[in-house]
Amino acid sequence: MTERNAQKHQQRQQKVKEQVDAKIAAAQKEQGILQVITGNGKGKSTSGFGTVARCVGHGMNAVVAQFIKGMWECGERNLLEKAGVPFAVMQTGFTWETQNRETDTRAAQKTWQQAKQWLQDDSIDLVLLDELTYMVSYDYIDLDEVILALQNRPKMQSVIITGRGAHRRLTELADTVSEVRNVKHAFEAGIKARAGFDY
Ligand code: ATP
Ligand code: MG
Repeated sequence: MTERNAQKHQQRQQKVKEQVDAKIAAAQKEQGILQVITGNGKGKSTSGFGTVARCVGHGMNAVVAQFIKGMWECGERNLLEKAGVPFAVMQTGFTWETQNRETDTRAAQKTWQQAKQWLQDDSIDLVLLDELTYMVSYDYIDLDEVILALQNRPKMQSVIITGRGAHRRLTELADTVSEVRNVKHAFEAGIKARAGFDY
């Protein structure tokens, strides 16, 4: 790098630093965050679980509700339950090949009742509602009820909702929304889902 280039670079970085510092100084509100992670690409649930691990790593309290009956056992669950993280998992009903509306609704409602209690408990720092978006899309759980529970939750509690096709009202309510775009996926090239990677 020439002297001139180095100087230019330094000036640019200084400007970036000033802008970032100003934003940090402006962000002073202390409150829980509602995050929605949606889109068709891979990485939604793993991101949610990553934040759960982050929370637990600080000695804080996280809980997980999973709104899809897994086809495979869940690696994160095996680990996090050992670390004392409570899970509510839909034991029956909804899978990707869902058939029976009545049993699906009942199963979804059971898990939702537990989630709702967690959303009223101010000792819980983080609630992960994994794959909740589908329950709303299929009308297994009432959207108004979800919105109300989210709005009335303890002020410091954070919530993460994952799943494709998040309803607009959920993304509007959220503080942070990330959309994971599918660029490509190994599955499309015929590579089988792998334990320790896909589940
Ligand atoms: P992950 O749990 O790996 O973070 P995800 O939560 O973003 O994935 P889901 O829609 O919940 O994705 O799908 C769960 C399973 O489907 C995972 O095994 C994942 O690898 C796989 N999957 C995710 N995205 C795609 C895709 N675009 N095409 C095919 N399979 C996918
Ligand atoms: Mg997922």
